[in-house]
Amino acid sequence: MSEDDKLDRREFLQRAGMIGAAVVGGSQFLSACDKGGGGSQKGQSGSGGQQGGGEGAGELDCTDTSGLSESEIKTRESLKYVDETPKPDKTCDNCRLYEKPESEGKCGGCTVVPGPVHPKGYCNSWQKMKG
Ligand code: SF4
Repeated sequence: MSEDDKLDRREFLQRAGMIGAAVVGGSQFLSACDKGGGGSQKGQSGSGGQQGGGEGAGELDCTDTSGLSESEIKTRESLKYVDETPKPDKTCDNCRLYEKPESEGKCGGCTVVPGPVHPKGYCNSWQKMKG
């Protein structure tokens, strides 16, 4: 092995070492990018969940009692109000005490049951229409 060969080998090893350092540094940089990418993927899955929450939005739900007082909720419960009548011929929209909503497809009201009332709902105070 000549002196020139030794120099070439040393030079090669030095360069290889530098490349190795560059690769290590680069992979650290890439792993830092991966972390950032992972974060944005989490954000995307979060927005996907919100889209899933929109499913079934077409169904009319008149069970929200969040705006009512405790005694109003108790009145609602004691009259056994339900969104879906168990008696097909007796529904809120053919009850004398029903108050129609401002527009079709929305919850109505009732003179005895506080809160939103489903047109196809029912309670124990159902009364036949006059006339
Ligand atoms: Fe519906 Fe009962 Fe009110 Fe009649 S009294 S509209 S059945 S909640």
